Amino acid sequence: MSKILVHICCAPDAVYFLKRLRQDFPHAYIKGFFYDPNIHPYEEYKLRYVETQRVCNELGIELEEGEYDVEAWMEKVKGYEKEPERGERCKLCFDFRLERSAKFAKEEGFTTFTTTLLMSPKKKFEQLKESGEEIAEKYSISFLALNYRKGGGTQEMFTLSKDREIYHQDYCGCVHGLFNQKGELAVWDLVSCSGRQPGSKEETLFIKSIRAFAEELSLPVKEFEFPFLNWFLLEGKVEIDKKIIPSFVEPYSQSIRGVAKGEVYKHVGDELYLSKQYVKIKLLEPFQDIPLREPKLTTHPTFLVPYEYRDVFLNSRVTATLKTEFRSSVSRLMVIGNVEAERRVGIPADTLQDGAGVSKSFVEELLSSYSKDIATGRLSVLILGAESFGRLGSRFFKELTGVDVNEFVDYRQNVFV
Ligand code: SF4
Repeated sequence: MSKILVHICCAPDAVYFLKRLRQDFPHAYIKGFFYDPNIHPYEEYKLRYVETQRVCNELGIELEEGEYDVEAWMEKVKGYEKEPERGERCKLCFDFRLERSAKFAKEEGFTTFTTTLLMSPKKKFEQLKESGEEIAEKYSISFLALNYRKGGGTQEMFTLSKDREIYHQDYCGCVHGLFNQKGELAVWDLVSCSGRQPGSKEETLFIKSIRAFAEELSLPVKEFEFPFLNWFLLEGKVEIDKKIIPSFVEPYSQSIRGVAKGEVYKHVGDELYLSKQYVKIKLLEPFQDIPLREPKLTTHPTFLVPYEYRDVFLNSRVTATLKTEFRSSVSRLMVIGNVEAERRVGIPADTLQDGAGVSKSFVEELLSSYSKDIATGRLSVLILGAESFGRLGSRFFKELTGVDVNEFVDYRQNVFV
């Protein structure tokens, strides 16, 4: 039996390529090798890997993950950072990934190797063929230069990818290509916050990982995307007598120009208002970050602080600084089961600033325990993106289906109706 090793660059390029390879080589043992240290940042790399795993699972193809040796890749393309896509840097990048794949193929006893890069409409077929054949010769194996783009293959690839709701990246992969393509906006693809910020790669990765698990249990899954006005906290602090007071910043707070120095001029219940730049202080007991229950339309710079500081705030001069940014983003809602199920359990996909959030293992346990109820349409599990920003995921579900989420798991993994 012939053995073919397939270097895989991403799920959209793999979905049709692997299907065709299966048809054309029905008796071959086919194995996938995900070796792509060119992908930045790491969350994006993981996201593409998880989606590739999903494609391979569906086709029953074993997948091996290569090393994420990003430093070696950076070294390889050093001096070619400004090259345009399809230029010399890309040639080096193909050589780097194909060389490692050929080496792996040789070590594992494969006689032939190929790459899903051949499927990508943005890559030069001839350039890849040349790279692959040269490297194959060096390792005394053969390279399959399969042009599955022809005869409607590219269109079929897009159709399969859309049907399976596969994550589709909007840049090739590396940091250099990203900056060439998006300019300074590339920074937003690269920032990585602790936790899972609404609309972030981390949030998508969480959702996609759960999807992979749900599909392994053969549960029906459907994903929907929704756009929203996103909010980013860049930096902020509130001080009294040069002492920083513990605080969280409420989502949708606007930036403070320079530094705001003022006194509390009015207080309503547990909310204190400063005399400068609309700054608001909310006193909390217990002190923990709290999700917004309603979307917030006013943009007071708002700090959440422990209740024990109430008298200090009322009798002192307060100094506050804050930098935030508003940008449009996309988040997701994932429905596991039937939307018409009687019990619709909502789980936030994002996390709070204090790190609280639902873990993947918690959701996996829930899916395993209730898999029968989900499969028979009695219960559905809804993974809700951007939930901490005014229950955006739940609201989107209501918009989509006309019914409410009727049970919730909160950020601290408490289940309540
Ligand atoms: S643009 Fe794509 S192919 Fe070119 S170097 Fe970057 S990751 Fe590699």
